[in-house]
Amino acid sequence: MDLYSEIIKGNTNALSKAITLVESTLEKDQKKSQELLSKFLSNNNNSIRIGVTGIPGVGKSTFIEKFGIVFLKKKVAVLAIDPSSEKTKGSILGDKSRMQTLSNHKNVFIRPSSNSGILGGVSNKTRDSIILCEAAGYDIIIIETVGVGQSETIVNQLVDIMLLLTITGAGDRLQCIKRGIIELAHLIIITKDDGDNKNKVKETVLDFNNTLALNAPMENRWFQKVLRCSAQENTGIDEINIIIEEYIRHVKLNNFFNVKRKKQDIYWINKIIKDELGNRRYNELREKNILQDIENKIIEEKINLYDIIQEL
Ligand code: GDP
Repeated sequence: MDLYSEIIKGNTNALSKAITLVESTLEKDQKKSQELLSKFLSNNNNSIRIGVTGIPGVGKSTFIEKFGIVFLKKKVAVLAIDPSSEKTKGSILGDKSRMQTLSNHKNVFIRPSSNSGILGGVSNKTRDSIILCEAAGYDIIIIETVGVGQSETIVNQLVDIMLLLTITGAGDRLQCIKRGIIELAHLIIITKDDGDNKNKVKETVLDFNNTLALNAPMENRWFQKVLRCSAQENTGIDEINIIIEEYIRHVKLNNFFNVKRKKQDIYWINKIIKDELGNRRYNELREKNILQDIENKIIEEKINLYDIIQEL
């Protein structure tokens, strides 16, 4: 199968195969995947990349199941990154019962990622998978990640908007503040707003709003928002989507959408070159100002990152 042409046609089998190739650590697969990736452009400004994070059990999968349906006129890809995959020898997200309704839809591609061994499971392989999904015509890309270690910071290098899902009570909130996750979240969503929990959710929303009231707007001049939802009762999901649309409009208008994507490109170019060539060679390139030149050429799409790595 010619993966390139099949992916362009939107063939999901080819897309799955390509992601497997990208995730493989075998040298021959890596070579093939770099060849494949070098044919795709890394930036598709028509897509929206949404990060969803929160501790296990907060309700991420249940939320994405309902939330993804909002977008069904578009093509939605969900890349679920599971840091526990190392222990379970395969991702727990691979369990087909998760997001079943969503996964049955023809416009939806769900892929649990087995990036085991990497802190938080997020890596440039996730970025490569996003590029492949976009090449296959998926315009809404949802990255689900479990809140551990550095994963949120890295996911923030992959997405346009970060949603932090959290539960009622002060415990999770304090943890999030301590680990600096709140600062990254454009939208904070209190989950399980149903049944006996409703009052507690109200209180938690107030607490969060009080905490955030002290904050200045984010770098992109966005004021963080706190919302609530019940994925179980399907309430609050539409409002969340409206705020996401508002956010995307906001960052497209003030150009931070492009600025962030460009910064992310630079982050990944540097990271991948460092990982592939080692610190010494990387520092050499930086000192001789070669790296800046490479960065610019890649961003202007005059050369391809993987071609340049081969060359170097
Ligand atoms: P994840 O680990 O963050 O992906 O969480 P899951 O989506 O697997 O949900 C964890 C648990 O919370 C499951 O037992 C869900 O049934 C439950 N849950 C998820 N969303 C809701 C909700 O909106 N309301 C209530 N009451 N329970 C929920």
